[in-house]
Amino acid sequence: MQPVIRRLAETTINRIAAGEVIERPAAAVKELVENALDAGARRIEVLLAGGGIARIEIIDDGCGITRDDLALALERHATSKLADETLISIPTLGFRGEALPSIGAVARLTLISRPAGQDCAYRVHVAGGAVGETVPAPGIAGTRAIVEDLFYATPARRKFLRTPRAEAEAAERAVWRLALAAPHVAFRLVSDERVMFDLPAQDELARVAALFGRETATALLPLEAEREGVTLRGLVGPASLSRATMGLQSFVVNGRPVIDPLLRLSLRLAYRDVVPAGRHAVAALRLTVPDEAVDVNVHPAKTELRFADANGVRSLVIGAIGRALARPVSLDSAPVAMPAQSFRTAPGASAYPGTRARGFAEAELALAAQPSARAFPPPPAAAGPAPHDHPLGAPLGQILDTYILAVAPDGALVLVDQHAAHERLTEERLRGEFLAGRIAAQPLLVPVVVDFPPGEAARLLSEAATLARLGLEIEAFGPGAILVRSLPAALKNPDAAGLLRDLAEEFAESEAPLALEARLDAALARLACHRSIRAGRRLQREEMDALLREMEATPRAATCSHGRPTFLRLTRAELEKMFGRRGF
Ligand code: ADP
Ligand code: MG
Repeated sequence: MQPVIRRLAETTINRIAAGEVIERPAAAVKELVENALDAGARRIEVLLAGGGIARIEIIDDGCGITRDDLALALERHATSKLADETLISIPTLGFRGEALPSIGAVARLTLISRPAGQDCAYRVHVAGGAVGETVPAPGIAGTRAIVEDLFYATPARRKFLRTPRAEAEAAERAVWRLALAAPHVAFRLVSDERVMFDLPAQDELARVAALFGRETATALLPLEAEREGVTLRGLVGPASLSRATMGLQSFVVNGRPVIDPLLRLSLRLAYRDVVPAGRHAVAALRLTVPDEAVDVNVHPAKTELRFADANGVRSLVIGAIGRALARPVSLDSAPVAMPAQSFRTAPGASAYPGTRARGFAEAELALAAQPSARAFPPPPAAAGPAPHDHPLGAPLGQILDTYILAVAPDGALVLVDQHAAHERLTEERLRGEFLAGRIAAQPLLVPVVVDFPPGEAARLLSEAATLARLGLEIEAFGPGAILVRSLPAALKNPDAAGLLRDLAEEFAESEAPLALEARLDAALARLACHRSIRAGRRLQREEMDALLREMEATPRAATCSHGRPTFLRLTRAELEKMFGRRGF
């Protein structure tokens, strides 16, 4: 039979559009809160019931919708926001005129609104696409949008919803992101009668503190940078604050909260030396981009962007975070509080003094025994407290040939993981050489040949130019073999085969589109690993002292390349607590 083409009914079109715009309650919440922000609201209240599937109510004190416009607002592609239809300059969060008709097509939607000058409020109701009369109703200035029975009109879509708990979490996240984007607007969020937050209009820092948690917020490092008209402001966590999820990451571009792959990747790259795989940095970043340099009309939900200069944006983010993190070790640097916690909660350790405890107590016992611990007689200089410009203190001895024990100027005990610390220092030194031009290469008198599976050899050889910049010169040597002509001089005498295998693995692991600089960075970290004081090597006092002083002078020395702390501190207050000299 010959197919017949016919136009879809408006309701059907809206239901199809709703599939893109309103895929779950969180999306409806986001669209309605964006409308309230666009209306210039100073205060927004969000009430959710049953994860937003049963009911969503948004109350704002914005400009309102006039009686005559109420029904129009429910029509597809009807918007008050696109003055200029070139889609270049879009100062509002909405502009597509799709949210209200989409919600109205799949749920029961009631709008009650009263602009400031109008003598009473009016109400309009739409259910499954059928729009009712506009009638007078009680209501104060502003707009109330009530969504009930989401997807009742599209049961197929309803089946894809997760549990009310999961939907509630997603909806709460959406409000959380918008509240971070608009700190000057008061926000109240209630979910199943629980007040999730109730925030006054506040400045950005206070808003981040309220939504990230006060303790986290106090550890954040501010940053600010500019590049070709794009500005970046924000707060980022030190590596030690990393988390198992991306839950404490917020990106705002031109006032719009976004979940943008490029920004996420840039953040990950900025931390790749200090936050281990599978962990995620904490960050609240705000970008301001000239209108013509960003396209927000890429995705119906408007959460993804297209930047005209993606590389520029990435460099800006990576560079600014790198500088924020690159602060030399100081007494109040990040690992201070966290590792002390791990002392107390070490497996088998007891919080009570006097009881036989494993963990730190065991290390103390070992101090007296040979050869796992060696204490030096105090040199004249260390008799008093260490000088204040030496926050890591004076070395007292070495434990298990692995840890350096030192006393800080404020009396805190410091334990340094010699391998982790040295690895970080080597990496920073290599990076310095690299940034200054080229890493010094040491030609090999007798070139080394290393065998690989053919594919891997080819991959390494394709990076030969990159590796040459790192002082590592290689060339093909028959199928599956690589000839090594020179190695980075700073590595002294590394095992060439191990080094190359390690690099091959690194290149295989990294995602395809990694930029050259990111690959170089990764390679630097691997190189550093190959020349570090092994745990288990005995150190002279001078070596320990040199290591501590170099750590103090080196940016980012507080964590090793894998994100683990390089040193732990146990303060006097913590010691007193552990010995019961102070209340818990
Ligand atoms: P868009 O936001 O893309 O314009 P919507 O479908 O979300 O499309 O909204 C349609 C129109 O309804 C808006 O352009 C705006 O004029 C009006 N509107 C919606 N919500 C509100 C609100 N809370 N306060 C004032 N006006 C609103
Ligand atoms: Mg809208």
